[in-house]
Amino acid sequence: MIFERKTIVIFSIFVMGFLISFDQTIYGQDSVNIESEKEFPSTFRVVTHLHTSFSHDARFWSEPNLQIENLKQQGYDAVLVSDHDHSTFSSTQTNFVVPPFKNGSFEKSRITPLQMKIINIPKSSSQYLNASDSSNSYEGQTSFHLNLKGNSDEFDSLSWVYWERGVDKIRDRPIAYDLALKFSIFFSELPKELDSTAYLCSTIGKRQDVRYNEVSKKICFYFSEKDWNESNYFPLTENQNNLLVRIDPPPLKTWKEYEFNLSELALDNFDELEGVPMKYLMLKQVTFNLVSKNGSMIDLHLDNLNVLSKMTSAQMFDWWKKDIESYSEENFVVISGLETTYGQDIAAYGLENWYNFSNYDSVTDRTQGINDFGALSILTSPRAHNFTEVKEGDGWGSNLIEIFNTVHDSKPSSQVLKGWDSFLSKGVRISGVAGFDSHGLQMTPGERNPTVVIEPIYENIVYAESLTKENILSSLEKGHFFVKQTKYPILMTLSPGSELKYQMGGIQNISNNEENYVSIFIKGAPLPSKLRIYSDGERLSELKITKDPFVTEVKIPPNKESYVRYEVLHLGERIAFSNPIFFVSDSQNEIDVVKESPTQLAQGTQNFNSVEDNFLAFGIILSIVIIIVFGIIIKRKISINKQLSN
Ligand SMILES: [Zn+2]
Repeated sequence: MIFERKTIVIFSIFVMGFLISFDQTIYGQDSVNIESEKEFPSTFRVVTHLHTSFSHDARFWSEPNLQIENLKQQGYDAVLVSDHDHSTFSSTQTNFVVPPFKNGSFEKSRITPLQMKIINIPKSSSQYLNASDSSNSYEGQTSFHLNLKGNSDEFDSLSWVYWERGVDKIRDRPIAYDLALKFSIFFSELPKELDSTAYLCSTIGKRQDVRYNEVSKKICFYFSEKDWNESNYFPLTENQNNLLVRIDPPPLKTWKEYEFNLSELALDNFDELEGVPMKYLMLKQVTFNLVSKNGSMIDLHLDNLNVLSKMTSAQMFDWWKKDIESYSEENFVVISGLETTYGQDIAAYGLENWYNFSNYDSVTDRTQGINDFGALSILTSPRAHNFTEVKEGDGWGSNLIEIFNTVHDSKPSSQVLKGWDSFLSKGVRISGVAGFDSHGLQMTPGERNPTVVIEPIYENIVYAESLTKENILSSLEKGHFFVKQTKYPILMTLSPGSELKYQMGGIQNISNNEENYVSIFIKGAPLPSKLRIYSDGERLSELKITKDPFVTEVKIPPNKESYVRYEVLHLGERIAFSNPIFFVSDSQNEIDVVKESPTQLAQGTQNFNSVEDNFLAFGIILSIVIIIVFGIIIKRKISINKQLSN
């Protein structure tokens, strides 16, 4: 019977040990009250810093409905959209100025100035002269001086398509912004009718996507006195895709300025533009052409070529804001904003009206201006600019700083995290955010573009009372959110005191934090992971995360103004980081907790507890099975022993 007793003792120790270790697995440290899980608030997946085709730097496949629909399909709850504001860069107050021509670029060896691309080169039999300084140009400017002599028996042409200076992309322009084409022309010799002409064409339409086929409609302005339809020269033949507008040439050796409303002409003359809603229609390109035949010479000067919006910046912003926010649905919120782009980019979300943010002398003043307008300010992609300046600026008073940007970073940069800690240690209350920065979903064929991205690598999990524009903006501003790698279903909290309160970030009065502890809860982190806690610009401690969920409390320096934040690392990679709690002695600053409406509380509790309940039920069943199995084994052994002793 000695053997039997030993077996029973070992068995009991085993079962007790199992239950104790299982208890630890669920609850982590005993000091934390797991009951408070019931207060777990609602979380929302939020993407900040999305661009659309209405941006100055629009990309292929970047229309709002494609960009926003893409994120909605990925399960995001809220998207903050902003486009660069380049509208104050020129006197025209628009985004769409084609840069002035460069002088001296049209030599045979070097025929492509930076902002233009030749799309049709004259055959070898033709002649053309260089662009040169023009004595006939506007005062203080230079213009193109072009001269083409056609073949004796057929037409010959020279065409340039307009691209932006230094950037090898055609920029689409929304015709909803009431676009006009403007240029000035000077003829040294009047072209002979039907033998030679100059004309400008604008192509309006949209690029191919899942909903609509490619649409291209041309409006061409030409100077010939007779109808070029007779010539059968394609661009000057009127058909359903091609509108010809004959314009009077300037008197000989006299400059004349022209301006045409492209949006009006297109909408009046092309029936329904293949059924594509106007807001998706863009000006795709502008070409300038010289055509000559029978050896006749064409010689002209061209200047002041612009595509501009007839709307003011404020009108454009209003139009865009209404359009962008109309993509909101019952369970999906779109928040509009503006990326102010003067040196360091600072985005402004929740901005009601356009404002000329270029008027501020410093980034600090501009950021303060954004905050004064009641908008949320985000210091975007700090590494894409001069990071030394960013560091010296201490965040310039922004509410948030992008610790990660999907376009500019492959991982949260140590440099930016260090910079963030240095701001925080100086008492600057700035929260860390993951910015998306996608400018499109598909490359223009034949080009490489890092700003074309489909999925955020890191995303923001925001604690909010409910899914509204106001709540999301307010929670972001207060730092009630954390950042995690999109692929991990991590849920985490950081609260002052040793009782789990399920909150993230915020301000805590030191006197209310008598115990000098913070409590941390992490669920869904892959095992094993590491928890690194930072305070006062230094690593306070590092713990191993060996359980899921993981709960711990950490002692912090007592009665001292400071902050605490943490990072979660897996296999050396930062997979999530919290926003800080700021400990202050100012009694005005009580910690603000995200309040819950009863429905959301129930939902949050249910989601959160279901995993725990299943886990607990599984443990109990497993323990019972083990007890029964051991019971049977012991019983059999006893009966065998009995038989043997018999
Ligand atoms: Zn941006």
